[in-house]
Amino acid sequence: MVDRIKFLLDERDIPTTWYNLAADLPPLHPPLNPDTGRPVTRDEMARTMPEPLIDQELSTEREWEIPEPVRQIYAQWRPSPLFRARRLEAELDTPARIYYKYEGVAPTGSHKPNTAVAQVFYNKQAGKRGLVTETGAGQWGSALAQSAAMFGLSAKVYMVKVSFTQKPYRRSLMEAFGAVCVPSPSTETAAGRAVLAVDPDCPGSLGIATSEALEAAGADDSLGYVLGSASNHVLAHQTVIGQEAIRQFDLAGDYPDIVVGCAGGGSNLAGLSFPFLGAQLHGGERVRVIAAEPAACPTLTRGTIAYDYADSAGLTPLFRMHTLGHGFVPPTVHAGGLRAHGMGQLVSRAVEEGLMEARAVTQRRCFDAAVRFARAEGILPAPESSHAIRVAIDEALRCKAEGRPQTILFGLSGHGHFDLTAYERFFAGELDDMELDEETVIAARSSIPEQVWELAGAAR
Ligand SMILES: *Cc1c(COP(=O)(O)O)cnc(C)c1O
Repeated sequence: MVDRIKFLLDERDIPTTWYNLAADLPPLHPPLNPDTGRPVTRDEMARTMPEPLIDQELSTEREWEIPEPVRQIYAQWRPSPLFRARRLEAELDTPARIYYKYEGVAPTGSHKPNTAVAQVFYNKQAGKRGLVTETGAGQWGSALAQSAAMFGLSAKVYMVKVSFTQKPYRRSLMEAFGAVCVPSPSTETAAGRAVLAVDPDCPGSLGIATSEALEAAGADDSLGYVLGSASNHVLAHQTVIGQEAIRQFDLAGDYPDIVVGCAGGGSNLAGLSFPFLGAQLHGGERVRVIAAEPAACPTLTRGTIAYDYADSAGLTPLFRMHTLGHGFVPPTVHAGGLRAHGMGQLVSRAVEEGLMEARAVTQRRCFDAAVRFARAEGILPAPESSHAIRVAIDEALRCKAEGRPQTILFGLSGHGHFDLTAYERFFAGELDDMELDEETVIAARSSIPEQVWELAGAAR
């Protein structure tokens, strides 16, 4: 008998519904139209979103049925495995039991296809012929490119320039699926040209790429705009992860005390943790949820809760969320997928309600943890995921110091096979720990729209 390290479910166990945490929270503050200061209407949302996704975005229903064609594609890689990290535990000499839910088994190597498939499905149903989006590190762009190809739609992806240069193979992967990939800021859009006029060497940011994608999609009715993180519907689509994990913990005869996920816009963290929080809010066991974010882009730990734009040109509605200010251009750390100035409002709200805590970790300590994990467990993590590993290891070491055998679950949101340049630089000692000084944080905060500061204050 070998000690079990792998907890697998059957295709038939793929969840049939997505879970919506909004149903179990006090009402969210509505997104506002920046011109009127009034809540965004369905008609306004319909400019970029098909009806079923608008319904989901505004929904307070607990569960939404997953369309059968979407589950059919999920079946290609879902349910994803839950592993017990026995070798890492031994290496750390910790009494903690460590588990990880591995999303790197998806076709493009991260959790992103869980929502890409769903969004492409609804856009195709609505008669769209192509899709436009932005991508940071390229995982979302590849996931969209793959899903669009599977449904026979075109895809155009604005990719943050620094990642476009650091990760050329992500671009090739998108092109292999038939997508067009453009480095952002580009000269193709007014938003891109405006940035380049001020700073021709701008490394780009998710906020800038979002402005470009929205502008491009807005200019052509046959194109739909889709997004890889932060929105309520995206976070809900990811909850297949946590729902599966709950069933897998049944198989393991265990249950997590601590759930850790890395947080960019919050989707993999939400996907893993929300089903556990849902269970807790309905009388189940209490879990401690920890969001791990980069010290270079500390949205939850040093941001302000306020209404702000989700992009940097101010094309989106205003969302009440943790934000560093939409004018913030984060340092070019290698966890490109975590370089977002704002946080998904459901994750923000969960933090505000005390359901979740947040911790910022520096780049080199994350790569240290990633390498330690890779050598023990044989999987090379994405730099984004390494933030969750760092926090999980720190918690396991705390358990050791306290002699407490707690159960720790973390999300291994993706593999690092396209991130070898980053690992190469880490091994060469070329990576910096870019912690932000207070001046930079304060300067960025000034880009949060002032009239809305007051609104947010009034809402509190
Ligand atoms: C995109 C990405 C992230 C960050 O996005 P979230 O929406 O916060 O999950 C984290 N890990 C991987 C592997 C990613 O591709």
